[in-house]
Amino acid sequence: MSKLAALPSVEKLAASLATDTPLPRPLINLFVRQQIDHFRQLLLQDEEHTREDIENTTRTALQAFANSRLQPVINGTGVLIHTNLGRSPLGPRAASALQTIATGYSNLEFDLPSGTRGKRAGYLETALACLLETPAATAVNNCAAALVLTLRTLVQESKNEVIVSRSELVEIGGGFRIPEILETSGAKLVEVGATNKTHLHDYQKAITPQTALILKVHRSNFYIDGFIGEPEIPELAALAKEHQIPLIEDLGSGAMMDTDALAPIEHEPTPQECLKRGIDLVIFSGDKLLGGPQSGIIGGRADLVAQIKKEPFFRAVRCDKLILTTLQESIDQYLETKADPTQSDVPVIKFLRTSVATLRQRAENILKELSPENTTIAIAETTARPGGGTMPRSEFPSIALKLVPQNQSISKLAKKLRSATPAIVGYTTDEALFLDLRTIFPETDTTVIQSLKKHLS
Ligand SMILES: *Cc1c(COP(=O)(O)O)cnc(C)c1O
Repeated sequence: MSKLAALPSVEKLAASLATDTPLPRPLINLFVRQQIDHFRQLLLQDEEHTREDIENTTRTALQAFANSRLQPVINGTGVLIHTNLGRSPLGPRAASALQTIATGYSNLEFDLPSGTRGKRAGYLETALACLLETPAATAVNNCAAALVLTLRTLVQESKNEVIVSRSELVEIGGGFRIPEILETSGAKLVEVGATNKTHLHDYQKAITPQTALILKVHRSNFYIDGFIGEPEIPELAALAKEHQIPLIEDLGSGAMMDTDALAPIEHEPTPQECLKRGIDLVIFSGDKLLGGPQSGIIGGRADLVAQIKKEPFFRAVRCDKLILTTLQESIDQYLETKADPTQSDVPVIKFLRTSVATLRQRAENILKELSPENTTIAIAETTARPGGGTMPRSEFPSIALKLVPQNQSISKLAKKLRSATPAIVGYTTDEALFLDLRTIFPETDTTVIQSLKKHLS
């Protein structure tokens, strides 16, 4: 027992740590108590640790815990829509609307002219439908929820078959797999075609009186090439219409403009295009290429949207005022800049459009400020990617700072920058640590300079 008594006390250890972390004291106490309990268990199993060892281990673990707190990150990965780094950043206009609505009362469900209860999201739904050039639209918390909701609405016990091409039974990421989504929605998956080819007659043969809908899933995070083929959307739409079966497309990224006009990347189908070709309902994310908040948008036939909104599950996935205000702002901005969408303040759109010459100039300006003793810094020609499960084939030229440390390993330097405030996340190769400037906000270049000055020595 004397050995146990020699363990550092929770309070003492917590007090010694409190200064280097911004964590609330009760959280530090809880964390340290768990660590001490852990060492106590080890001691009871005759595994002894020195007091110093315990203190150091606890300090490191607490620092890692403090770093896990949601905080800003400077994205030097060159991946524009980085799922792990929060996908699309909001533009200043949406952020400012968020600040206003979040900190006050609003007419969320209140009709100001009559002074009575009003319709939630009425304005947004009209604006969305206008932007999508379609009769009706609505929004829920994310694209996955939008798909589940749509399936739950349109699939009934007596009509539960959902036809999907074998080339579209995809995993989107984070455990989101089309066959499993169908299963949880009460749908029976009817696979048609082969991995590389699906013909119109494959769909035709699969239609039965039990068919609830035909689902198309955009191959957003992979591509197939070679001996491939699928029916054109208008052909498939005609078949669906003939049998009075809704044709739904999960589009994923939701580009609101021609991506190939912004950067040397491929064309990402827009919801507008899909609806024009005959899709009855499109479903896509609000926080990928659209550049809004996390949300799932559903647009298309008015009767289907109305049915979806009546489904009780809609209530479980409805947007809160914070999403509604940022999405409303994003959509209004697209409507206002319709003639020239490149004028929008959405950061990912700006990043896509930035020229390599501009990036190089910024890299040179940063380099001028730095003369570290123990690190070589150079300007490297790199490639950036849209990311976020969009356009897997699209890589386009970019510029990065290439850091080669002389007195520490590349991974150690990378970790140091990730643990800094603000955290800077790049990518490493055997050769160097790269910080791609395409995804770094120009306003934060001075922060990057300061941080590098501090951490490269
Ligand atoms: C990203 C994506 C989803 C999931 O979107 P969330 O907004 O993350 O729910 C669904 N389908 C496709 C095709 C996607 O690309």
